[in-house]
Amino acid sequence: MAVTVEFARRDAVPEPHRWTCPKCGQGDDPETVKANLSVCPHCGHHLRIGARERIAQLADTGSFIERWSHLRTLDPLGFNDLMPYPERLRDAQATSGLSEAIVGGNASIGEAPCIFAAMDFSFLGGSMGSVVGERLWRAAEAAAAEHLPLVVVASSGGARMQEGAISLMQMAKTSCAVDLVNEARAPFVVVMADPCTGGVVASFASLADICVAEPGALLYFTGPRVIAETTKESLPPDFGSAERNLQLGHLDAVIPRHELKARVATYLRLLKGGGQGDGTYPGSAGQRRRGPGGMAQATARRAGSAVTRVRSVVLGRDRASAESDQDS
Ligand SMILES: [Zn+2]
Repeated sequence: MAVTVEFARRDAVPEPHRWTCPKCGQGDDPETVKANLSVCPHCGHHLRIGARERIAQLADTGSFIERWSHLRTLDPLGFNDLMPYPERLRDAQATSGLSEAIVGGNASIGEAPCIFAAMDFSFLGGSMGSVVGERLWRAAEAAAAEHLPLVVVASSGGARMQEGAISLMQMAKTSCAVDLVNEARAPFVVVMADPCTGGVVASFASLADICVAEPGALLYFTGPRVIAETTKESLPPDFGSAERNLQLGHLDAVIPRHELKARVATYLRLLKGGGQGDGTYPGSAGQRRRGPGGMAQATARRAGSAVTRVRSVVLGRDRASAESDQDS
């Protein structure tokens, strides 16, 4: 019987760990790629990065102060698929080092103070469960109360199936959160990172004052395979890409990662903390503070405006506006 034995010199230099680009297949040193903001130095492919790396890239060094990290997801449905939901959460927490799929707090970007939150796709696909929704709500509430711009980096697979309908409710809740920011006239900037899909792209992420994305990011509600199978139509090869969304007017810009911080900082400097409409900016005396009724009020207002829109379509604008007058 032939036996193969491999020898290696003890002092042989080990082969350095090489990183390989998933798009162009070229290799490089992992440290070089990380220093290049996790963008392939050969083809410019933007790799997915976690919330902590995103904060390190965008926020000024040492400026980020995390908030709302004490919020924890319960298991309202007692959900169990291949493993119980609490166990799946613990796994995700251990792997990612995060408590949930979003990290938020105060920061400054290019010396412009703001409320900043970043989602992490590696945490259960960045799914928007109840804690993600609540942290976004509190970020919006803080932006409104402190009259600061709100900046969110959104990356998500959509709803979190383990929380069922409660997860779907976060779409309405985060949309109402945007209303809080709007009413306080605080700017809201969203950066869509690959992938930004499902309930996140269908709620707060598309409601920002300025909505930008990274090159090559996939942004859609439903994936091309499901749409093609449902409609029996072939889709264009660039379906759902950031560049295609820009052409269709869904985005304001597609910004390479190297330019992202400078560009967001420019937006924040231009918009400052928002204005009052008369060119003035509120000081501390003019800041709005919201009580516990804020969410209920915002929900009622959004529901009211939705009813008005439906009336406009069904009844025609004149009658709808007349009915609105009677209601008020
Ligand atoms: Zn590459």
